[in-house]
Amino acid sequence: MPGFELWGAEEQKEVNDVLETGILMRYGFDGARKGIWKAKELEAEICNTFGSQYAQLTSSGTAALTTAMAALGIGYGDEVIMPTFTFVASFEAVLSVGAIPVLVDVDKTLTLDPDAVKEAITPNTKCIMPVHMCGSMANLDALRNICEQHDLLLLEDACQSIGATYKGKAVGTIGDAGTFSFDFVKTMTCGEGGVVMTNKEDVYIKCDGYTDHGHDHKGGADRGADDHPFIGYNYRISELHAAVGLAQIRKVQRFLDIQKKNYSQLRQIISQVPEVTFRSVPDPDGDSCTFLSWFLPSEEITQAFVEEMKSQGILGGNFYWYKNNWHYISKWDHLKNASLLTGLSHAVTEKLRSYATQKFPASDAIMGRCISTSISLAWTDEQIKEKGEKMVAAIRKVLTAQHNLV
Ligand SMILES: *Cc1c(COP(=O)(O)O)cnc(C)c1O
Repeated sequence: MPGFELWGAEEQKEVNDVLETGILMRYGFDGARKGIWKAKELEAEICNTFGSQYAQLTSSGTAALTTAMAALGIGYGDEVIMPTFTFVASFEAVLSVGAIPVLVDVDKTLTLDPDAVKEAITPNTKCIMPVHMCGSMANLDALRNICEQHDLLLLEDACQSIGATYKGKAVGTIGDAGTFSFDFVKTMTCGEGGVVMTNKEDVYIKCDGYTDHGHDHKGGADRGADDHPFIGYNYRISELHAAVGLAQIRKVQRFLDIQKKNYSQLRQIISQVPEVTFRSVPDPDGDSCTFLSWFLPSEEITQAFVEEMKSQGILGGNFYWYKNNWHYISKWDHLKNASLLTGLSHAVTEKLRSYATQKFPASDAIMGRCISTSISLAWTDEQIKEKGEKMVAAIRKVLTAQHNLV
């Protein structure tokens, strides 16, 4: 799954280019940098590789989401519809611009259920933010239709699905804006970093300024001559991080090819068990295959599988998001308690506290039965076979135990 598994001389070469000039900043120092512009080069490669008109690198994927929201004009009083299953960064970004996260159920795609989205729309809704979880994608046609009908923005959190496509287009390039994360465990890494992609020039120009203290970058070689048409922050990526990303993006197709091959082999093995079903993927050819996500028949059986794998010491790489991780609403106590270090508007606090009692039975019914197995780039065919067979044995064991109980 993560690009750091195939680290090599390519990354070292790109980083060394920067170390030789000593210009670690992405802007300015035009003479001293001797023509080395890693961040600019990476932005151009992102546009080429993923088919986006514009790309703005940021210091993280979270910063990319915040930047995208600001550039799309999402802020105080606005509601952003997002899923109950995602990484915490998605709601952190909503809160960072003063907007209200409206959590709704996921379906068997493990992403936003379009019917649940429709029900959650209010006069304050400004944006729908699908999160393309675990390498696959949301039902973008359905969500785009809803956006068109209700005049809403579509912001894709594609941080986990670099290289996934939907009907021939890269996820992250389909909505009004989309983001990738290049943190250390993502499909390609910069160490830390992220990007906002958009096909709208005005949105891009705002991202460009917002990530660099509002600089309009029209002062030429003299940063002091730049104007500041609006207030921004510092969400810049460094040249060192961008250099790593440049080496990684040139290998990203190889990462994806390996993922697809390893995913298919593992899927075939666990498909032997008729009780195992798989997540639905709106465009199966477009799955980036970072994870194989699958279901067992009940929450009880799934928990028994997790316990069995743990007791054998082989659970590693099998994620039971429902109980173990910070990816599902059941574990977001800090959100439900509105535990922020600084004040929030009354509307935001009220909404967050409402999640302490709001139930999401439809999401529970999905997530309680779901396991995501991360797909390694480093596996040999032999290792996949061994891993798959151990999983099958554990699944059969818990199914038999369950059967004997009834
Ligand atoms: C990783 C991730 C982010 C944030 O990325 P960082 O670069 O770690 O800040 C946002 N959303 C999702 C779904 C992610 O998995």
